[in-house]
Amino acid sequence: MFKEERETLGFDWSMIGNIGDGRPNLGNTMDVSVYRLMQFTLRDVLIKKFDTKTAEQVFFEAGEHAGKEFCKELITQKEDFNEFVIELQELLKKLKIGILRIEEADLEKMTFTLTVAEDLDCSGLPASDETICTYDEGFLSGLLSEYTGKNFSAREVDCWCSGDRVCRFEAKAVA
Ligand SMILES: [Zn+2]
Repeated sequence: MFKEERETLGFDWSMIGNIGDGRPNLGNTMDVSVYRLMQFTLRDVLIKKFDTKTAEQVFFEAGEHAGKEFCKELITQKEDFNEFVIELQELLKKLKIGILRIEEADLEKMTFTLTVAEDLDCSGLPASDETICTYDEGFLSGLLSEYTGKNFSAREVDCWCSGDRVCRFEAKAVA
């Protein structure tokens, strides 16, 4: 699974396994601090071993991969945009990833402004002048790419860390 060299992405949803069987007492949830501990230490090591640019690229690409697989595996409403958004909002809330709102959607130009409140990655972090949700940028890009069949790029323009109370993303189809 992880000890075979490969040149292409190999993640499959089945790798997540049967959590109910594996954790009969602890169940399928854990503390948000543990998720952040894993993510932030991984990012820390990537920065030290390579550089911030590489770390950003790795996080973006991993998020993008996750967004595509998430859409393939969990989204059932793949036709009507409003139905898609409702299902996505419910899923993100149920899985405690965040509270999604669509601020603007232009389906002709394929441009969207989305906000995520109580975001898993950054809500409550100390203020800095950085927007840090690179994994989320990738995740939303992958999700929208998979849903629309077009190549999407999402960029975080406001973040809890940069002083906002929500993370705001501008997403657009790119050639
Ligand atoms: Zn953020």
